[in-house]
Amino acid sequence: MKEPALDLVVAALRKIRETSDHLPRASRISLAQLQSVAPNKADLLAPIRERVRVCTGVGNPDAELMFIGEAPGADEDKRGEPFVGRAGQLLTKIIETMGFSREQVYIANILKCRPDTSPGSFGNRPPTPLEMQTCRPYLVEQIDIIQPKVLVALGAVAVEGLLGTRATMRELRGRWHSYNGTPLMITYHPAYLLRNQSPSEKRKVWEDMLQVLEGLERPITERQRNYFL
Ligand code: URA
Repeated sequence: MKEPALDLVVAALRKIRETSDHLPRASRISLAQLQSVAPNKADLLAPIRERVRVCTGVGNPDAELMFIGEAPGADEDKRGEPFVGRAGQLLTKIIETMGFSREQVYIANILKCRPDTSPGSFGNRPPTPLEMQTCRPYLVEQIDIIQPKVLVALGAVAVEGLLGTRATMRELRGRWHSYNGTPLMITYHPAYLLRNQSPSEKRKVWEDMLQVLEGLERPITERQRNYFL
């Protein structure tokens, strides 16, 4: 027989599912055996890392909260890890003030490598729509595997990459949106807060994060409620 046995079983199960009202049942023992060999989320994320090979994402594959940024900058490119530069340190502070550690949440970017810049130029440039379109499938796959309870998009570029929506942050932030049924909070990118140090802008981000904590049904202390970043 040329066809591998596993393919035959999968095809047969698929046919039963499509044509029968009664789904096949497995014994508790066989189910336990299947679960023990089923890949965990870290195993499922590994091939994405292999394919992208640069700055894919970091954190807990079972995270209930996932942050999505724009693209790695120079620091991230060097370390192969998102949000490790100045903006990353501010994001870490936000995460920790929410009561999580960086290891408990998942952090990824729309782009998996730093947008190239011409030799001799300084700073980072925003990704082009084509670059975002090219990288989007990796992010979609990451979200599908992690299945967070809540997503947070950091800044307008992350929103455009994720939803394809172009709008100002004034229109977008501070309220719930949805990505394929997952609640999505949109807030300012930490780099914006580094450029604009006004307490009112920082407070807006913190209020968005309080909404996220409520969405996750996490207890919020009085100190957290009154916090200013
Ligand atoms: N800004 C981002 O959007 N992502 C990073 O990883 C770093 C800075």
